[in-house]
Amino acid sequence: MTKVVNCRDLGFDCDAVVRAESSEEALQMVAQHAKEAHAMDEVTPELVEKVHEVMLEE
Ligand SMILES: [Zn+2]
Repeated sequence: MTKVVNCRDLGFDCDAVVRAESSEEALQMVAQHAKEAHAMDEVTPELVEKVHEVMLEE
């Protein structure tokens, strides 16, 4: 099952989509993307919670 996170669902005006094999990996990739694309230097508990909320499976 692939985990999918749409960056837009996290509240960013952004079309990036993260696909990963596990929720841990997805979270890591979102953190990396948020850092590079949205200048978010640290992963807040709120972001982690949000990622789990909006995560889809395909
Ligand atoms: Zn983004």
